Amino acid sequence: MDEPAQPLVLANVQLLDGTTADVHLRCGRIRAVTSPGAPDRTGEPIDLAGHLLLPAPAEPHCHFDKVLLGGLGSDRGPGGLDAAVAAWYAARKSISRSDVRDRALRAARELLASGATAIRTHVDVGAETGLDLVEALREVRQLLLGQAELQIVAFVDFPLRGVAGADNRALLVDALAAGADAVGGAPYRDEDPAACLDILMDTAFAQHRPVDLHIDETLDPESHTLEGLAERVLGSGFPHRVTASHCVSLGTQRPDVVERTAALVARAGIAVVTCPQTNLYLQAREHALPVPRGLTALAALRSAGVTVAAGGDNARDPFNPLGRFDPMEAASLLVLAGHLSPRSAYEAVSGSARRTMGLEAGGIEPGAPAELLAVRASTIEGALSDARADRVVFHRGRLVCRTRHERCFPAP
Ligand SMILES: [Zn+2]
Repeated sequence: MDEPAQPLVLANVQLLDGTTADVHLRCGRIRAVTSPGAPDRTGEPIDLAGHLLLPAPAEPHCHFDKVLLGGLGSDRGPGGLDAAVAAWYAARKSISRSDVRDRALRAARELLASGATAIRTHVDVGAETGLDLVEALREVRQLLLGQAELQIVAFVDFPLRGVAGADNRALLVDALAAGADAVGGAPYRDEDPAACLDILMDTAFAQHRPVDLHIDETLDPESHTLEGLAERVLGSGFPHRVTASHCVSLGTQRPDVVERTAALVARAGIAVVTCPQTNLYLQAREHALPVPRGLTALAALRSAGVTVAAGGDNARDPFNPLGRFDPMEAASLLVLAGHLSPRSAYEAVSGSARRTMGLEAGGIEPGAPAELLAVRASTIEGALSDARADRVVFHRGRLVCRTRHERCFPAP
């Protein structure tokens, strides 16, 4: 599987600056970018005329144990996060490992066809489900080898504190030993978020793992778990990567509080993942006008220098009835609801998403990793607007998926 990829020439691709080029791939990297038809072609040519070549997107935050389950009744009534959690907890009692594996594989392949060659999924771990869901995802990671990288975050159940939390704490450690890459959890859902944060960070430190926490999914401006996380990272010198996902309450706080927190998060080197699809759907359903948004404080975080990525989170499950497994969807919402430029929005689902996941990111330039997406478009605005199915995806310098879309208008 790790034999060197055959050299390829992506011929006649369009670049973001509007020029047309041949892009030469060798040993998993871009070796050269030349004018079309230059004589030193040494690889197999693939004609990609009419395609815009982009660094491939990545999916930094999804939940493959829940994906494609449908609403399970949570879409009746006012909905919201608590109803979705209740529906999922009722369903997961009887879920089989093969069911999780099959749904996760379908979702991963849809994401791969969209261009995401690296995916990070959270997966429930706790006394009720044991390690079954982690093991299902580990099987999926094996099945995707050579096509896409799958990172697994152990999303541990509550309680975590005291005697009642002993089993869940032990299972978190077991999940890491069984193949999960990072420590996850939702400390804000506990009565004592600071104590839970301590347990999660101490476990990650002892196990030498990064953390990726659901830091909050509430519009309550008094939720300050993100600030607590940043202070803890700065105070302890925690040496591994730290990701704060969702961070919804930051979007509801006073500007001076947001600015202070954003500066702390930047100093602590914490990456933030916003999840526009699910948090625009789940939050603020009980509000009359004006309806607040479930997004984090994107502008303040970005101007403080924080790496801000965007993930799809949930798709076609009790937490979000829709979702097309396409990072272009999250990026277009960052433009429309988050007021990012199209290029910055695409960066949030590509380079920033990869850096958040601890992966190398680069542009279309010699030496950059050959994680690439060619999409039938001529501009980034066109790529985000059309979200064409016509895509060609490269992972480690190999073509791993090609989708062709045919349209015809029969003569009347
Ligand atoms: Zn999530």
